[in-house]
Amino acid sequence: MKIETREYKWNGTLAKRNETKYIVLHHRAGNGDVESIHKLHLGRGFSGIGYHFYVRKDGSVQKGRPIDAVGAHAVGANQISVGVCFEGDFEKEKDMSIKQMQSGRMLIAYLKNLYPKAVVKGHREVQSTACPGRFFPIEKLKEEPRDMSIEEAVEIIQAKTGIEDETIEFLLCYKYGEELVTKIAEALR
Ligand SMILES: [Zn+2]
Repeated sequence: MKIETREYKWNGTLAKRNETKYIVLHHRAGNGDVESIHKLHLGRGFSGIGYHFYVRKDGSVQKGRPIDAVGAHAVGANQISVGVCFEGDFEKEKDMSIKQMQSGRMLIAYLKNLYPKAVVKGHREVQSTACPGRFFPIEKLKEEPRDMSIEEAVEIIQAKTGIEDETIEFLLCYKYGEELVTKIAEALR
């Protein structure tokens, strides 16, 4: 996961945040690039994009507000949280793409490394709202990231798909075979 930077023109000065208790997850309730969110939020009278990060369906991650700035994404929690927005409408969309899920998990791991005490919350856990949508995989994103061993990955794939030992061994012989098997297992988990 690479975090893409962007140059924004801010309307006014952004205040610095002193505390980070939460990593608040949102959905966009729609699709589109990060610049369009910036424009939308400027239109609402914010200083600019209210989220600190944006995770797109293709797995790309873009920077929004500076990480140490007070955001504009969750009334009552802006002073104490980092806001991460996921592209899509998870009130309607039942599945998050594997790429978006992987980048989301990696971004959260990166943020938890920066703010070890921060707790991951869905927007609706800090404010009365439907965001991030009823199908948003909040529990999966809250899970502690861990490195999956190849043995564990093989077990998961066998338990969930019934693919035989020989077939998996065959896959493992390929260049990047282990990586592929681990990715499949993570998606199935
Ligand atoms: Zn939200």
